[in-house]
Amino acid sequence: MSLVFDLHAHSIASDGSLTPSDLVARASQHGVDVLALTDHDVTDGIEEAIRAAENYGISVIPGVEVSVTWYGATIHVLGLGIDPAAEKLQRGLDSLREFRHWRAEEIARKLESHGVEGALDGAKQYAKGSLISRTHFARYLVEKNFAADIREVFKRFLVANKPGYVAGRWTQLNDAVDWIVDAGGRAVIAHPARYKLSATKLRQLLAEFKDAGGEGLEVVSSSHNVADTAQMARYALDFDLLASRGSDYHGPEHAWVELGKIPDLPEKCKPVWHDWSIA
Ligand code: AMP
Ligand code: MN
Ligand code: MN
Ligand code: MN
Repeated sequence: MSLVFDLHAHSIASDGSLTPSDLVARASQHGVDVLALTDHDVTDGIEEAIRAAENYGISVIPGVEVSVTWYGATIHVLGLGIDPAAEKLQRGLDSLREFRHWRAEEIARKLESHGVEGALDGAKQYAKGSLISRTHFARYLVEKNFAADIREVFKRFLVANKPGYVAGRWTQLNDAVDWIVDAGGRAVIAHPARYKLSATKLRQLLAEFKDAGGEGLEVVSSSHNVADTAQMARYALDFDLLASRGSDYHGPEHAWVELGKIPDLPEKCKPVWHDWSIA
């Protein structure tokens, strides 16, 4: 029997809503054999997840999802199989979390001038780790009935040209890849179809990513439809990139996604886990 891989998931260490232990338990219940914990810009949940995995007979891959700014666009780069103790990676992630704290104050200020009171404290109540995310603001705005659900909050408040938007100023693509490779990990571009890049721009991204030492493309993602998956499988082949599979799970209240419940990798793809020895 082949193993079920889900190599993209979040815990309360970033903007997920489950603890690392509960995330691992849920992954096991849903038939996942190998789960990567890939919190945004932080690795604090990994130790707990690995410990929990021993009780459920599944494997946890230590991971991270690094925020990158590339020609003005925000791109997410997954690091799979990283050593969380690696210093260069941790210094880099520290600087990203510092930017997040500054941005949170800006977002709160902007929301305030649009009639949303107490957004900083409100968002902080949802931030259980060392990191603050737009998702935490979204949860607070849903709580205060500014929108019916998280997706609606993003659409109306937290994206470009909306009242609570502050542009990202994340790290550079080559730095993110460098931190991941230096930490012994494999760099993978997350949910590539989500960026809505033109074919020319996407090819440029993949070429620069390869040059920087990047190795993988998340071909199967909950953000992708059938056509996106087929398209990204072609790009993976064209650019000789390994293919990854991840749900990008954030918690049960994001009811449109479940751990492990995404299509299999297209057959022609070479899996990012092809040379892993899974205990
Ligand atoms: P941040 O890294 O703080 O800018 O927040 C980005 C996170 O917001 C993503 O990782 C998603 O979890 C979430 N997000 C972004 N866009 C949406 C959306 N349209 N609906 C729901 N969640 C979203
Ligand atoms: Mn997220
Ligand atoms: Mn992402
Ligand atoms: Mn993610």
